[in-house]
Amino acid sequence: MVRTRFAPSPTGFLHIGGARTALFSWAYARRHGGRFILRIEDTDIERSTPEAVQAILDGMRWLGLDYDEGPYFQTQRLYRYKEVIQQMLEAGTAYHCYMLPEALERMRASQMAAGLKPKYDGTWRPEPGKRLPTPPSGVQPVVRFKNPSTGEVTWDDLVKGRITFSNEELDDFVIARADGTPTYNFCVVVDDWDMGITHVIRGDDHVSNTPRQINLFRALGAKVPQYAHLSMILGEDGQKLSKRHGAVSVMQYDQEGYLPEAVLNYLARLGWSHGDAEIFDMAQFCQWFDLDHITPSAAQFNKQKLNWLNAHYLKQADNARLAANVEKRLEARGIDTKNGPDLSAAIDLYKARVSTLNELADAVEYFYKQIHPAPELLEPYLTEEIRPVLRALAEKLATCDWSQTALHALIQQVVTENGLKFPKVAMPLRVMVTGSTQSPSVDAVLAILGREETLRRLGCYL
Ligand code: GLU
Repeated sequence: MVRTRFAPSPTGFLHIGGARTALFSWAYARRHGGRFILRIEDTDIERSTPEAVQAILDGMRWLGLDYDEGPYFQTQRLYRYKEVIQQMLEAGTAYHCYMLPEALERMRASQMAAGLKPKYDGTWRPEPGKRLPTPPSGVQPVVRFKNPSTGEVTWDDLVKGRITFSNEELDDFVIARADGTPTYNFCVVVDDWDMGITHVIRGDDHVSNTPRQINLFRALGAKVPQYAHLSMILGEDGQKLSKRHGAVSVMQYDQEGYLPEAVLNYLARLGWSHGDAEIFDMAQFCQWFDLDHITPSAAQFNKQKLNWLNAHYLKQADNARLAANVEKRLEARGIDTKNGPDLSAAIDLYKARVSTLNELADAVEYFYKQIHPAPELLEPYLTEEIRPVLRALAEKLATCDWSQTALHALIQQVVTENGLKFPKVAMPLRVMVTGSTQSPSVDAVLAILGREETLRRLGCYL
């Protein structure tokens, strides 16, 4: 049974890289009928905040990445880490180290001065036949892991291929601090062990932790999971993705008007591919997803492609769903849509012409607020020649049938009667009712805007 997990540290929002890691872990579990676990790695008390926990949960919910277990919190598992540390001390796979921080610092400095890589010198490491120093009184020891001192750690990374580290490069790292709190690499291993994780899918910033973690698994007699390290995501300028590149928080994409399905589809293709398939939903993704088609090289963010996908999903989305969303966006701008024309109809008219929900809100705003087209916008179209024609049209508009077809026929009739071309009439009409020279067909706009409001807007100029 496949068991994967997403294990964010709650030190900030859920960013794009984290969301992709979560998505891949989730999809892998779904693909194999396994289970996906959410674990909050909050042992770094100073940097973890409840707001960040909430931001992660919100981001997961918005994306629809449902988890089968959790969220587990490491801070609620401290008793368990203590228990395992005790077992390791008893088994001799971990030991107390009484070296004071100042002595440790001096040792490091002299190693570096001698051109060596700083490394714990093993003073307190028990070895057969070795006499350990007498523990100084009043010093709280740290607990160090007794890392194998020779040999290598090798694993076949499911993304990056075979990776080998020499044990000599690895320290007897601290697994519990002097105050008893467990350290990061240790907690991850105990959790992955206890939670039966079979596949660890995470960012490749953790590659250097992996040999330490594998050694810990072995020392615990636990089965080592398989590892898949995902390459990082670069910004459009080829630099590591950061705040400089604009939105990196998943929820900011919501604010900017992206649909979750577009963001998910976009993330799915960020470093993974299935032939040349670009547009697919998550049900399809979960059938296709595998680790073999993840590229080991870094993926580059491309906003244009995200916009393209978002435009696609907006076009397909249900009008009522978009209306509920756009209503909130307009409300935030102080625009009430309740007493105006049908928002779903307005949205239907524009949703194929925009890339984001904010653009959609911009596009339909004029239906619900006072518009004041700039004189220089209107003047070129509202000529003295056309003004009487429009007045006559307005009179007919007061009584005609109010449907798009009827409106189109009426405008056409006025155009023909006066020997004009359609835009001659449609353009000034458009500017007067929409405030812009660009819109879908003016009869469609009028049909939605309604008779009363149309006549009111025309009345301001005619
Ligand atoms: N908590 C780690 C992070 O947020 C992830 C640890 C892991 O996936 O093993 O980077």
